[in-house]
Amino acid sequence: MKKLPAIITVAITGSLPTKEDNPAVPITVSEQIESTHQCYEAGASLVHIHVRDDEGKPCSDADRFFSVKEGIEKHCPEMIIQFSTGGRSGEGRARVECLVHKPDMASLTLGSVNFFNSVYLNEPELVRFFAEEMKRFSVKPEIEIFDLGMLYIASRMAKEGLLEQPLHFQFVLGIKGALPAKESVLDFCIKELREECPDATWGACGIGRFQRTVSNWAMAKGGHLRVGLEDNIRVSRDRLAASNSELVEIAVRDCESFNRSVSSPKEARALLAC
Ligand code: MG
Repeated sequence: MKKLPAIITVAITGSLPTKEDNPAVPITVSEQIESTHQCYEAGASLVHIHVRDDEGKPCSDADRFFSVKEGIEKHCPEMIIQFSTGGRSGEGRARVECLVHKPDMASLTLGSVNFFNSVYLNEPELVRFFAEEMKRFSVKPEIEIFDLGMLYIASRMAKEGLLEQPLHFQFVLGIKGALPAKESVLDFCIKELREECPDATWGACGIGRFQRTVSNWAMAKGGHLRVGLEDNIRVSRDRLAASNSELVEIAVRDCESFNRSVSSPKEARALLAC
């Protein structure tokens, strides 16, 4: 049986890493477009975007999001563009002001969780508002699963019609305080997903040194994967990644060894129904 092509998502910037951490982190709009284009050429078909202000701090400025989207659309035909609505980049409803620019997808976190020493706060009312806005602008959510309870919230919201099916999930493993990067945890998440949302697609990503390990689990289990400097700035303990595209290239080579073809942007759109 032919195996499902693997969609490689690249999370190019995030809200945390700085040039001091790794000079290759793309911060300005033009750096972000250039970095995405290299990843597109290397095999990424979906880009997850955070934007920064002029000082390099995370922000939720809708105009910045638009500029990045415009450049990527020009240079990377059919690549799926996903905006982050993450909580480190803005406050409350401002986190989804970018949806007016109608990206293909946006990240959506359905609950709150402790990230090591801070609270990632997503109140139920705010989450419902985000979901409604995504429906209003025809933006497909990527449901970020930081903790298992969020999976059941997604299932319930889908049954209530607040989320349109088929859903797409991202299991995020390896953040202190949230789901650990353990294969048994991913296996359990997949099992529950199959029961709760049988039509759903899923990917998994590992934070920091777990990036490649979790990607490889996802390849082996028929999921999609996510790499990039947002989640991990190194290729080994001793060496920083030279670029986002280096991390994509590693993922492409690993896909070959797991006998998974790498999805084209067009295939990715069909697989994710977006
Ligand atoms: Mg993010």
